[in-house]
Amino acid sequence: MMNKEAKIFIAEHESMIGIALVKCLKTAGFNNLVTKSSPQLALTNQSEVRKFFLQEELEYVFLSPVKEGGILANINYPAELIYLNLQVQTNIIHFACEAKVKKLLFLGSSCIYPKFCLQPMKEEALLTGLLEPTNEAYAIAKIAGIKMCQAYNKQYNTNFISVVPTNIYGPYDNFDLKTSHVIPGLIRNFHQSKINRKKEAIIWGSGAPRREFLYVDDFADACIFLMNNYDQLEIINIGYGKDISIKELALIIKDVTEFDGELVFDDNKPDGMPYKLLDISKMNKLGWSAKTDLKEGLKKTYIWFKQIEEEKQKNEKRRVNKI
Ligand code: GDP
Repeated sequence: MMNKEAKIFIAEHESMIGIALVKCLKTAGFNNLVTKSSPQLALTNQSEVRKFFLQEELEYVFLSPVKEGGILANINYPAELIYLNLQVQTNIIHFACEAKVKKLLFLGSSCIYPKFCLQPMKEEALLTGLLEPTNEAYAIAKIAGIKMCQAYNKQYNTNFISVVPTNIYGPYDNFDLKTSHVIPGLIRNFHQSKINRKKEAIIWGSGAPRREFLYVDDFADACIFLMNNYDQLEIINIGYGKDISIKELALIIKDVTEFDGELVFDDNKPDGMPYKLLDISKMNKLGWSAKTDLKEGLKKTYIWFKQIEEEKQKNEKRRVNKI
């Protein structure tokens, strides 16, 4: 159990997950948080990370991915995804051990499970089949991180746990159409189509793949819960418990964004994994389940997105007026 004064490092604290972790930890009364990232601390640099761990005397570490993205980002940037994640996680896991950190929580990803995995996907399915080719590089980095935590626990008696999140969404997500996941992609797509009074919006793929989505604040809550309550070698899934098709998701986002045009599915774009639903019985048995319903989470995310877009436009107008 982390005490309220414990010194906690949140790696990648400016990412969607990092921001939610910091917020949830603060709300729960933890205020000895360490949030350093580039340029103050280059997590890819081995000697900088070593120095940081030896100086800081950290007790707990939350290790989020340094870089990740949606299906197109995985297809276009596999080298960056595997290099950056391997480099950063290897540095942090190794020096967390050397500096005798009490506990580390490593974030995996649901893409670590085989492409044609039995649904819902159980923790035991890891390494039982071939991966989905579009996200193989990223998945290999994440599997390496999980295996590294387990190896350190076995050889050095550390307490490094690994969690497997389903698709996470919420405020501060990446809304760049070229690299985002499906939820922020569709929110931006429909929002822009509404503003530009488009008659239709194009959605990638067949609309048939099924995905499970978890609101980021629920995910942060689950990570803190596991930091306090889970000490086992085996990985543990964190999910919402239900999946929906991309078509059904698109209809909900259409409703939330109030876009009233037609939805057109572009079969030339990849579908990725056909199904991706986590078996969350292990997590449920420990007494944790998600609180935020998908539509409610999407509404909160859209409110945040609109606000950010309005601010951006105001700033742009100010800039143009000055010129
Ligand atoms: P995945 O879960 O790793 O496959 O990643 P994504 O969240 O990027 O994609 C999930 C599914 O949504 C895939 O079948 C995509 O083809 C589909 N999709 C539909 N529209 C979009 C979009 O605008 N952006 C993204 N990223 N995916 C989309």
